[in-house]
Amino acid sequence: MEPRRPLIAGNWKMYKTIPEAIELAQDLVKLVTTEPKADVMIAPAFAALYPVSQAIKNSPIALGSQNMHWEQEGAYTGEISPPMLVASGCKYVIIGHSERRQYFGETDEAINKKIASAARYNLIPILCVGETDEEREGGMTFSILDKQMEKGVEGFSSDDLQSLVIAYEPVWAIGTGKTATKDQAQEVHNHIRRWIEKSFGNDLAKSIRILYGGSVKPDNVEGLMAMPDVDGALVGGASLKADVFSKIIYY
Ligand code: PEP
Repeated sequence: MEPRRPLIAGNWKMYKTIPEAIELAQDLVKLVTTEPKADVMIAPAFAALYPVSQAIKNSPIALGSQNMHWEQEGAYTGEISPPMLVASGCKYVIIGHSERRQYFGETDEAINKKIASAARYNLIPILCVGETDEEREGGMTFSILDKQMEKGVEGFSSDDLQSLVIAYEPVWAIGTGKTATKDQAQEVHNHIRRWIEKSFGNDLAKSIRILYGGSVKPDNVEGLMAMPDVDGALVGGASLKADVFSKIIYY
């Protein structure tokens, strides 16, 4: 089996106007000149997807969306569909980010439909899972993750999940400056991989990429990436400056 190719993904959240997004993408393209040892993705806001796709054309950087609806089209005001993402140049879609779960009431059921839909349109879904501070303090980390995983991929076969990427993002570490230690990340990533093995078999468990997200910075990325079950990073704040994100890309 091929070794897992790492993925470094930048989530720009609700930052950057279209001109600012183009400038950031162009600055990044100038810095990512030699082939990175990881796949690289950036996820700007919806409005900037197409212009950014033009700015990163002919570079090793791929485009992703931060969210999507599961339907192909319809009367869903304010939403964006999978074919719209594909037409904008997206290859990836982040699904179930904790900010979507927390502020927009996104449920495991909706997340499940989005993962199914992403696969139908050949978009690579990045399923985000993670526990809150209280859940960790209460010793519930593994049971919370198991539930999020179970519901997120309910009804799928291992074949359906070949392209799935999982991002472990402890909610207490997102945008807080608190990072899980590399040992905490490894412990959880290993737990997730064992869960995949139990549920879908050894082949998928070995091939699936599990990213860590939560205050990843140039000075902690190397330690995290050295852990055997950490296959990349989902980066928020530190992906908003080209020089900082490029240091993470070339960890
Ligand atoms: C994120 O948005 O997924 C994230 C991990 O943010 P930050 O890196 O800023 O903690």
